[in-house]
Amino acid sequence: MGKYRFPRGMRPSTLEERRVFYEREFNLKSVSEWLKWRDLLNTVFAVVIGRHSNIYLPEYEDIKKKAVIIDEHKGLEDVLEYILQYLPEGVYYDRNVYSDIKLCVQRDCDYRNCWDCENFIGQELAFDIDPENVNCPYHGSVEDKMRKGQGLSFCMLEFRKVRKLTVMLYEDLENEFKNIRVVFSGRGFHIHVLDEKAIRLSRDEREEIAKKYSEYAIDEWVTSGEMRLIRLPYSLNGLVSRVCIPLGIEEVVKFDPRKQAIPFFLLLSPRRSSRASFSQL
Ligand SMILES: [Zn+2]
Ligand SMILES: [Zn+2]
Repeated sequence: MGKYRFPRGMRPSTLEERRVFYEREFNLKSVSEWLKWRDLLNTVFAVVIGRHSNIYLPEYEDIKKKAVIIDEHKGLEDVLEYILQYLPEGVYYDRNVYSDIKLCVQRDCDYRNCWDCENFIGQELAFDIDPENVNCPYHGSVEDKMRKGQGLSFCMLEFRKVRKLTVMLYEDLENEFKNIRVVFSGRGFHIHVLDEKAIRLSRDEREEIAKKYSEYAIDEWVTSGEMRLIRLPYSLNGLVSRVCIPLGIEEVVKFDPRKQAIPFFLLLSPRRSSRASFSQL
């Protein structure tokens, strides 16, 4: 540990903290509210066990870096059971909208190649604005950070930049779309666009949109649709110990990840202020 640098108070969660969060704090009602426009039974979920934190249950060593797909479930209670089994660092859902995921399971099409599937309806349009994608006078460009193996580290200077870019992108998107939601991801922000016309966009149109908005330091892989998984709102970002939460745009303006979206286990923990290696940026 000690591999990443985060703003004060942010640090990876232990397995026990993940368990406590998902047993006591994770709010399935809020999750189902977030997903209410979707057909829950035809929504695919995924967990990443220990890709970045390298914290994982020993029995999952071989799959710790993979996205483990959860497509055989009868609803969120089942999904929660899987989460408690794997105790993952991150929980995601597939933005694709399917009419019947059983067809994809039968055909073993792996969801990656489903754009031409007959049961593929569309995909939530999404923008991922992360602090590594902005330049920092102290930590350099995204290339510098990657070279030093610090692609996921961030400082408050970078955070304030992505916060501003998120608000600007949101306002820009308002010219084109109506149903726009912002989520704090734990490090940066996600913007989800749920307009029918956004969900029906083709891959080529998504590529164009990704290019059009690239100045906002977005991850083009997400917007183009290549990366279909996105962090599930209300889940725990186990790399930084923050809850992924939807925010009104007026809340984004002042959002401070050092003081907000803090899970109960950190509020109660005496260790909160004693982890020097993850503080002081
Ligand atoms: Zn398919
Ligand atoms: Zn920095």
